[in-house]
Amino acid sequence: MPARMLDGAAVARDIKTELQPRVTAFTARRGRPPGLGIVLVGDDPASGTYVRNKLKSAGETGLRADLERLPATASLHELLAVVARLNASDVHDAILVQSPLPAAMGPTAEQQVFDAIDPAKDVDGFHPANVGRLVQNRPSLVPCTPLGIIELLERSHVPMAGARAVVIGRSDIVGKPIAVLLLHRHATVTICHSRTRDLDRVAAEADILVAAIGRAGFVTPAFVKPGATVMDVGINRVEDRSVAASLYPEGSRRLADFDRRGSILVGDVHPSVAEVAGALTPVPGGIGPLTIALLLANTLRAAEARG
Ligand code: NAD
Repeated sequence: MPARMLDGAAVARDIKTELQPRVTAFTARRGRPPGLGIVLVGDDPASGTYVRNKLKSAGETGLRADLERLPATASLHELLAVVARLNASDVHDAILVQSPLPAAMGPTAEQQVFDAIDPAKDVDGFHPANVGRLVQNRPSLVPCTPLGIIELLERSHVPMAGARAVVIGRSDIVGKPIAVLLLHRHATVTICHSRTRDLDRVAAEADILVAAIGRAGFVTPAFVKPGATVMDVGINRVEDRSVAASLYPEGSRRLADFDRRGSILVGDVHPSVAEVAGALTPVPGGIGPLTIALLLANTLRAAEARG
């Protein structure tokens, strides 16, 4: 039986609807909406699309969202000055600096920027103070994508307590925080990465498999226990038709999309996993919309905590 598709887009809509009365109440109480400052450096097309979607969703939910743009040639010093201004701003409750930053800013730029954001406004939960609070399971601002994965699991009634969970990927943005969140929900968690031996065999032990790798169609049915829940975090742009055709059969809607547009977005999970898994998130329309919904939820949370 093909896997149940977990409709992240629908859950994201529900979350946004649920936020609405709280946004209205905050706005009435404070005489201003909750405010999010987004900083975008350079002109990476994918980052530009993500930021546009975030601004649009924020506006639709009644939040104030301002975009600060810096050219790709901007210095780290200039970026830190923008962050300092947003830290001091009364109308901005939350700050998001879109990654990746231009390579020219240096290998430690992202860390320096995340360290500089006021932890109370750290909507992505990347500041070390918030990471520490997350690990200790104390209320904090938690990275949006992992939080979105948990929301989708909970609202899809996937049991986490006692489940075997395997996370492929160990980034600070997805892999590590989702592993910690699953642990706090009493799953037995294994984190895998590029040096894990017998990766498919380890993954196939999972009741819940999270793929956050960044490689199109990497997770094949050999990685998946029959009936497992598979959360596909990957967003990969495929521009090579032979890669697209290795994922989707001739005559399929997705391959027709490729032929029309010259590229498609695909996940880390091969579509044939749908024949084995019990439940699966689609790409697009799975974790991506939830990341945005949880960004709005975190903005509101930061605003409410500021009083
Ligand atoms: P990253 O590059 O920082 O981390 C990738 C991880 O995958 C690394 O920890 C690495 O060890 C692991 N990995 C790489 N090759 C591997 C291999 N051959 N075998 C096993 N593990 C391997 O990436 P990230 O920021 O964690 O993002 C991962 C993916 O999720 C990307 O496609 C990204 O675009 C996507 N993403 C999606 C959302 C969303 O909202 N849906 C949010 C963030 C990231």
